[in-house]
Amino acid sequence: MHRARKRFGQNFLQDGGIIHSIVALINPSPDMHVIEIGPGLGALTRPLLSNVDQLDLLEIDRDLVAYWNEQDLKGLTVIEGDALQFDFLSWAQNRSGKSGLCKVVGNLPYNISSPLLFHLVGAAHAIDEQVFMLQAEVVERMVAPAGSSDFSRLSVMLQARYDMDQVLEVPPEAFDPQPKVNSAVVRMIPRQDFDLSNVQWSALEKVVAAAFSQRRKMLRTNLQAFADRLKLSELELKARAQDISVERYIEWAKILAA
Ligand code: SAM
Repeated sequence: MHRARKRFGQNFLQDGGIIHSIVALINPSPDMHVIEIGPGLGALTRPLLSNVDQLDLLEIDRDLVAYWNEQDLKGLTVIEGDALQFDFLSWAQNRSGKSGLCKVVGNLPYNISSPLLFHLVGAAHAIDEQVFMLQAEVVERMVAPAGSSDFSRLSVMLQARYDMDQVLEVPPEAFDPQPKVNSAVVRMIPRQDFDLSNVQWSALEKVVAAAFSQRRKMLRTNLQAFADRLKLSELELKARAQDISVERYIEWAKILAA
């Protein structure tokens, strides 16, 4: 019997209806290439495996890795490792053949969700879709529109790279042990119109970090170092970081990288 480990964010899904809805969202098909981050005891893994020919699992907990290796299930590859260090780009490039979408899915450990989402950006051009369960508060920030109080650095950076939908809300009772917070499922599809080079992406990171460095301050202060090159309008100088659209941040990144 596996005892849930807090340090690995182990809250195991129990609710059959929710599990069914998440698997339906992932929409597995035999030729799809799926990697599940943190299979735990297999709430999502087993229904996924009955719909795909091949499934990769990435798990940090040695006991759970041993558990999955003992199962010796057809089509299953178990990788012991830390998702924050894992090379998702090589995985996607190795797995994607002539056909079949590449999807990264998981009920993620909440303590690493933001760094993991940023880590995955580096592989976005090789991945077709991500479906994740996260803390509801984080999903709200990810999908928040400009102008809302939840609009943050995370919103801008992820909306610049992905189209995202919050697709399901999940209460603590759906898990064992129950987390203290609500959860939500988000679907992330890399944007078709993404055209930033690495240099432009770095410029985006810099200008967004500077803009949000002091949330209450006007951009006149936060973007002082960039103001001349960006030729900010009077309106923009008086605005706050959360009032600026993602597309405008992207324009600024392109100007700064030129
Ligand atoms: N998928 C299972 C479910 O829905 O019941 C378990 C989800 S549980 C919230 C998170 C899982 O991620 C656990 O299996 C945990 O051991 C694993 N995990 C935690 N940190 C990880 C990391 N850095 N890399 C890979 N897996 C990790």
